[in-house]
Amino acid sequence: MTFSAVIVAAGSGTRAGPGQAKQWRPVAGKPALRWSVEAFLAGGAADIVIVTTQDGEKALTEVLAGLPGWRVAPGGATRALSVQSGLAALAHRPGDEPVLIHDAARPFLTGATIQAVLKALETADAVLPALPVADTLKRAEPGQNPTTTSRDHLWRAQTPQAARRDTLLAAYAAWTDGEPTDDAQVVEAAGGRVAIAPGDPLLMKLTYPEDFAMAERLAGAARITRVGQGFDAHRWGPGEEVWLCGVAIKHDETLIGHSDADAGLHALTDAILGAIGEGDIGDHFPPTDPKWKGAASDQFLIHAAQLVAAKGGSIVNVDVTLICERPKIKPHRQAMRERLAQILDLPLDRVSVKATTTEKMGFTGRGEGLAASAVVAVETPA
Ligand code: MG
Repeated sequence: MTFSAVIVAAGSGTRAGPGQAKQWRPVAGKPALRWSVEAFLAGGAADIVIVTTQDGEKALTEVLAGLPGWRVAPGGATRALSVQSGLAALAHRPGDEPVLIHDAARPFLTGATIQAVLKALETADAVLPALPVADTLKRAEPGQNPTTTSRDHLWRAQTPQAARRDTLLAAYAAWTDGEPTDDAQVVEAAGGRVAIAPGDPLLMKLTYPEDFAMAERLAGAARITRVGQGFDAHRWGPGEEVWLCGVAIKHDETLIGHSDADAGLHALTDAILGAIGEGDIGDHFPPTDPKWKGAASDQFLIHAAQLVAAKGGSIVNVDVTLICERPKIKPHRQAMRERLAQILDLPLDRVSVKATTTEKMGFTGRGEGLAASAVVAVETPA
């Protein structure tokens, strides 16, 4: 099921303390808003609207640098008006498509919550993720003894809350009762059926200055590390230079292949595709397609890195091993590392190129071909 998302980031967030509004403040080195956009990208959102102020809009190009698939809508004087502004920016989408309305101050959204909310919407008009209240509740007036209040049937509502766009627009149009506290309440008032999906303790709302210290501790739990491995081999043939890890090396043979036969880049590209479950290099660049004849393989690697970015992910480190008797790799290793670091925009110490022989055994040992293997670690939203 396709869905789109509206992230409300128009508040001034004065309770979070002096300085920037909370949606722009960094959490584990990344603006709070960026966490949510990355989570929606990884979760498959077809369109993401960020509702923000004029000042916020100026900040977005930096805050969301490198992320695809988002647009901006102007914030309103109230949250309800901001939500409606976001929905208006989705007018090109089908009216019956689910829209997830999310609060930018809840950075640790996971794919599991997105899926749970969408699933529950199949049998409801609106869905909110919520957690049962676990703490004992007290009511205390100033100067009076606290009294104990039952927590039975009480839930802590979170976002993203979901409804089909037409349902939300109609419900907001019918709403007359002041400022609603959330979107589910508006659908509820319009007579819609509201369902609760499992909430997530990680989906804490950044409200007070001390919340940011807690968020720093939680940040690691909202990301997962994936590992991918790739392997490739090409046959030696007549030629004068060979491309390995994006570097041309003078040699008395060349590697034969449909593209430039850079086995190092091919193994590394496959490793990245493997880490994010995106098939293999042949799926993306079929060797039967004449377009890739003689192609420079760095574009394959760039494509794989872009797919990682589109999921809100980042490459942590890469490690390539070239297996051959000749040419000697060591004199070119540093240039290869530098080229890979440049293509992937990584610091040099996160890029490794190693070489080995097979002691004259096997096809690489007999000089029939060269092989390459690669391992990568990729971090993505959970
Ligand atoms: Mg290959």
